[in-house]
Amino acid sequence: MIRRRKTRPVWIGKVEVGGRAPITVQSMTNTDTEDVRRTVRQIRCLEKAGCEIIRVAVPTVRAARALAAIKKRISIPLVADIHFRHTLALESIAQGVDAVRLNPGNIRNPKQVRRVVRAAKEAGIPIRIGVNSGSIRRPGGREKDLVRLMVRRTLSYCTQFERLGFRDIILSLKASNCMETMEAYRTVAGRCDYPLHVGVTAAGPPETAIVKSAIAIGGLVSEGVGDTIRVSLSGPPVAEVEAGIEILKALGLRPAGIEIISCPTCGRTQIDLVRLVRDIRRRTKGMPGDLKVAIMGCVVNGPGEAREADVGIAGGKGFGYLFKNGKKIRKVPEVQFADVLMKEIERLLQKRGR
Ligand code: SF4
Repeated sequence: MIRRRKTRPVWIGKVEVGGRAPITVQSMTNTDTEDVRRTVRQIRCLEKAGCEIIRVAVPTVRAARALAAIKKRISIPLVADIHFRHTLALESIAQGVDAVRLNPGNIRNPKQVRRVVRAAKEAGIPIRIGVNSGSIRRPGGREKDLVRLMVRRTLSYCTQFERLGFRDIILSLKASNCMETMEAYRTVAGRCDYPLHVGVTAAGPPETAIVKSAIAIGGLVSEGVGDTIRVSLSGPPVAEVEAGIEILKALGLRPAGIEIISCPTCGRTQIDLVRLVRDIRRRTKGMPGDLKVAIMGCVVNGPGEAREADVGIAGGKGFGYLFKNGKKIRKVPEVQFADVLMKEIERLLQKRGR
């Protein structure tokens, strides 16, 4: 069982982060924020995939001025991502965003920081202090200093906010290296009670980014550290949301949905297992309800796993055995595997009153 670190609750629009709230999944659009129509379309797709908080880049005044129109047409909280120019944060707040992310690595002028904090306080919205390893100056470039610098920069920014009586703060300390990321979050988690947005920055192409995120985000969350997560990857943002949800499912923090248990195949496999798994995954994607579906390649290990699942197939040569609720039901020809499994899945879900 995961014991979550105790944090103060912070609200991003209608979504609570920290406190006793479940861990949320977020992502970031990759459209031009000035293009309201495309940005809204992408946010709606992400929302459909399960995204609960969305962040958009605000690199220009025109992008900041598009935020009110975007917010009006979406139903998840909108976060403005600000770098370099504090005036973009002020304009975003005036446009009614639900939170602002500031990077202490590139907005350093205390007067400017104070102006943003005061505006956020007046608007009643939180600020994420988002430190990235890439924007932290390393004296002499010594890698071992990185975590210390990230934590120090984060906490000194917090102090500036606290002096203004502002504590609606969320923190992130992302490095592109898993171990540094984890060390930075663990260190800061022991020094304050602010909720943490957990992720790995510049994590790379999907195959690499998903593994890094599963290790760093999954590892931290399993230790109770982390209140909202983002998987960053060089690919479609929907894949980030799907990966984030999978991490939470694997930790038992989200309903598993239709969970497919399948073998890796080996020299004993005599059915087209990979195609069957792909087919069932496609056909069950987004189905409501929790079910374990076993798809196993042979009668060596297959029956055991199939019996433990709600429904399963253990393959033979051109046929397989159907298992349901722990019992062997009947022999099924391979060509019928997918349809028979789907029918049984639907029946079981109906019976459970999905
Ligand atoms: S279940 Fe059978 S086919 Fe699949 S990996 Fe195990 S031994 Fe091989």
